[in-house]
Amino acid sequence: MADGSRKRQSKSEIVVVPALKDWSCAECGGGGSLLTMDDQGPLCLSCADLAHLAFLPSGDAALTRRARKASGLSAVVVRFSRARKRYERQGILVEEEALDQAEAECLADADARARRRERERSRRGEQDLAFQAEMAAEIVRLYPACPRDRAEEIARHTGARGSGRVGRSAAGRTFDPGALELAVAASVRHRDTGYDELLMSGVERAEARRLVRDEVERVLDEWRRPAAEGRPQRPNS
Ligand SMILES: [Zn+2]
Repeated sequence: MADGSRKRQSKSEIVVVPALKDWSCAECGGGGSLLTMDDQGPLCLSCADLAHLAFLPSGDAALTRRARKASGLSAVVVRFSRARKRYERQGILVEEEALDQAEAECLADADARARRRERERSRRGEQDLAFQAEMAAEIVRLYPACPRDRAEEIARHTGARGSGRVGRSAAGRTFDPGALELAVAASVRHRDTGYDELLMSGVERAEARRLVRDEVERVLDEWRRPAAEGRPQRPNS
């Protein structure tokens, strides 16, 4: 950053340095913590007509750029680094109003960025809902007797973006039926059989799956029937 700043530093730029030892202003004999070099010698900020400026430390590039642009009069504050043997930029002196304006602009930018993020979040949420509604419709098409709220629940559970459970095909228009069937079977296993209790009681997962397999198949067969012919549906547990 120092290199980039130094390249932009033009000959006409007013340079201010911190006073490192006692010194007297060539014009008024006064002192101060900052001084600028003039043809006559060191000048205090009052004599150099810089005393009304505010110091903005380096670190926020956008704020610095905007403040300098908005400030009719500005100066750069540098300090000589003995270690690096070169002057290093500490910040700038700018008009208070310019600093206020620059800060307001940067805040407005930050607000705009926050609003844009919020819009993107909400748009993603809407896409998720549409995606889940399509998935629920597809589940009902494959399992006409599946209760509507169960289809929606399965879609909500598996269709959340980034869940990685069931995505769209590469074409982006259809669901992978195999993956949908697995999602529906998983829901039946957890909700309509004793699978979870088996797991909780210490039964191995493969053994638990084997024990409930027939029950899962029975419910899926039931759901595959046309809705009108389906037997009364089991209440959700
Ligand atoms: Zn002076």
